[in-house]
Amino acid sequence: MRSTEFKDWMSSIERMSRHQREQLRKRLAGKEDTDEVIALIEGHQPDKLACPDCKSTELYRWGNVSQLQRYRCRQCHRTFNALTGTPLARLRHKDKWFEYEQTLIQGLSIRQSADSCGIANNTSFKWRHRFLQIPAARQPGKMNGIVEADETYFLESFKGQRRLPRSARKRGGKADKKGTSKEQVPVLVVRDRHGETASCILQGTSTQQIEPALIPLLNKDVILCTDGLPTYKQITRQANIAHRPVNIAAGQRVIDNIYHVQNVNAYDSRLKQWMKKFHGVATRYLGNYLGWHRMIDRLGQNITPTLCFLASLGKTRQFQQLIIT
Ligand SMILES: [Zn+2]
Repeated sequence: MRSTEFKDWMSSIERMSRHQREQLRKRLAGKEDTDEVIALIEGHQPDKLACPDCKSTELYRWGNVSQLQRYRCRQCHRTFNALTGTPLARLRHKDKWFEYEQTLIQGLSIRQSADSCGIANNTSFKWRHRFLQIPAARQPGKMNGIVEADETYFLESFKGQRRLPRSARKRGGKADKKGTSKEQVPVLVVRDRHGETASCILQGTSTQQIEPALIPLLNKDVILCTDGLPTYKQITRQANIAHRPVNIAAGQRVIDNIYHVQNVNAYDSRLKQWMKKFHGVATRYLGNYLGWHRMIDRLGQNITPTLCFLASLGKTRQFQQLIIT
């Protein structure tokens, strides 16, 4: 825009109503968010981009679409941008993505997020699961030192599914049988004393089911604390990992003042409390909610929409740099 043109335009602000100024303010904030979103998507890319199809690095620049640089492969002629092949590919309204991440930080329902961002409910639903896809797939690396493991249970739910495998239950209702039954979905929660947390859905609580979920999370020299379920004894013996089973059933709480499962138990109750406001999460999306809560818990007081967005993009290196600084 020429400077004279801009001057005229600026002077017109005087004549705007309060409502119009508010619209302008929102538009400018959205524009700034879009610019930042684009910078995060395109920033820190590997020097040599490669075609997602044939992996060729011989590319042309091929214009801009929705503000993202588009490339065309010289070999297979496919066009792509930095989001191609990621969960955020082809989503619209980039001006609202940070605002949407903010609603994830607040733990809003799909409908509340939609209202807050001024988007449709089905868009909010789609965004929720796309934004959470990478955080849900990501568990922490190998844990060190004292590690606590425990299982927690969530009511099985077919919410949102047209064809129910069984008769419907009142939403957020109770299982027919108390304690562990087929209607409870077991989740393994593993937490070390640095606050790194893994949480994964189990098909059952036998050794065969817990072992492959647990062992890859542990360094060889960890000391694993559990509530003494015999399964853990077997698993740790096989894997040659030190084990401190706390005999909760006999009223034992701590061994030698340091070995206990209180951190993992506290995490379980925070997670349960947080889940409550969703009035029952569909079991097929439970993994996404677990990943969402891990992200919120891991970032704690430092959480920002930018960090959540980097997590949604799977840009771990930038993400790590930002949490450390
Ligand atoms: Zn190609």
